[in-house]
Amino acid sequence: MVEHLDIEELEDMGDIEVTCAICGKKVKIGKTHKDYKRLVKDRKGVFICDQCQTRLQFEAQELQKKPFKPM
Ligand SMILES: [Zn+2]
Repeated sequence: MVEHLDIEELEDMGDIEVTCAICGKKVKIGKTHKDYKRLVKDRKGVFICDQCQTRLQFEAQELQKKPFKPM
């Protein structure tokens, strides 16, 4: 018998612990987190913590400001 895993049931699990793909930090996220449903469905899905997301956004903005110059 295949265990029935429904997302509605999984949502009652409460917080889940995920690991940031960039810094390796373990973070607990709850239902309200934008990636929660995705990561409950796919526990091996890529998670990036807030700090790293902010840093990536900042770096992306910096790169846009400075056009890449060939050496
Ligand atoms: Zn991180």
